[in-house]
Amino acid sequence: MKIGFIGLGNMGLPMARNLHDAGHEVTGFDTAQVEAPFPLAGSASAAAAGAEVVITMLPNGKILRIVAEEVIPAMPDGAVLLDCSTVDVESARAVAEDAAKAGLGALDAPVSGGIGGAQGGTLTFMVGGTEEAFARAKPLFDIMGQKAVHCGPSGNGQAAKICNNMILGATMIVTCEAFALADRLGLDRQALFDVVSTSSGASWSVNSYCPAPGIGPASPADNGYAPGFAAELMLKDLGLAMEAADSVTADTPMGRAAFELYRTFVDEEDGKGRDFSAMLPRFERRNGG
Ligand code: NAD
Repeated sequence: MKIGFIGLGNMGLPMARNLHDAGHEVTGFDTAQVEAPFPLAGSASAAAAGAEVVITMLPNGKILRIVAEEVIPAMPDGAVLLDCSTVDVESARAVAEDAAKAGLGALDAPVSGGIGGAQGGTLTFMVGGTEEAFARAKPLFDIMGQKAVHCGPSGNGQAAKICNNMILGATMIVTCEAFALADRLGLDRQALFDVVSTSSGASWSVNSYCPAPGIGPASPADNGYAPGFAAELMLKDLGLAMEAADSVTADTPMGRAAFELYRTFVDEEDGKGRDFSAMLPRFERRNGG
C-alpha cells in the first residue's frame, strides 16, 4: 500500500518503520530533521500525494487541523486519512467532516501502549469512523498494533482514549496515596501489593505498573521514575478529558481532581520529565518521609 506518514516523532517514526519493514511503500514528512529508512518528502502535501492512506501522528488538535487542511486536497479520491494522535474530540470530528466532504475516508485512532508499543508493533488502537474506512485500515493496525477496537463514528476513538486515561490518572493517584499511607501505618509495601493485586483494589496501576520500586513487575519506578508515560502526557490527556466533559456538561469530579493534581505536579512541582507514577515520592515527601 502507498502510505504517507506525517509526524515522525517518538511514536510516529517507529510506527512508520514497522509499516515500511512489512513491505508498504512509505513516504514520510516531519517539520523537524529526522532520519528514516524510507523516503522523506519536502512537505505534508507531497507525502500525501497519491497515497491510499495518510497517517498523522502529531502533538495536538490545532496542528492536526493545519496539516489536514494541507493534505486533504492532495489525497486521491477514496483514500483514507488516519489520525493516530491524541487530540480533542471536536478537532477529530471537524477533520473527519472535511475529509468526507472531499470524498475521503477518515478515522481517529489514538493509541495506548506508548513508545515501547510503537517500537514493538503492539499498540492498541481505539478507532472512530465508518466500518468501510476501518476495514481499509485494519491490515495497517495489525502491523502497528496487537488490537484495534472500532468504537463507533468519528470522534469515538478519541472519546475512548480520554475516558481510559481519566480512569488511569485517577487510579494511579489513589494507588500512590495508598502506598504512602501504608508506609505511615507501618504496613509493608510488598504485603500491600500481595493483598491488593489479588483483591478488589486491583488495577493496571497496581498490578502492571506498580509505582513502588522493587514491587510487582518492572516499571518506571525501578528506573528512577524516568518515563515511561510522562506526567506531562497524562496532564495533556486529562486536560482533553476535562475539555470534553465541559463540552457536554458531564460531571467528572475524580477526573477533575486528577487533572488539578497533575497540573500542580507538572507546573509547580518536580513532575516535569518524570513518569506519571512519580506521584508516590511526591506523597512520601508530603507525608514527611
Ligand atoms: P513527539 O513530539 O515526539 O512527535 C510529534 C512529531 O510531530 C514531532 O517530530 C514534530 O516535529 C512533528 N510535527 C509537529 N508539527 C508538525 C507539522 N506541522 N507537520 C509535520 N510534523 C509535525 O510526540 P509523540 O510522543 O510521538 O506523540 C505523538 C502523539 O501521540 C501525541 O498526540 C501524543 O499525545 C500521542 N501519544 C504519545 C504517547 C507516548 O508515550 N509518547 C503515547 C500515546 C499517545
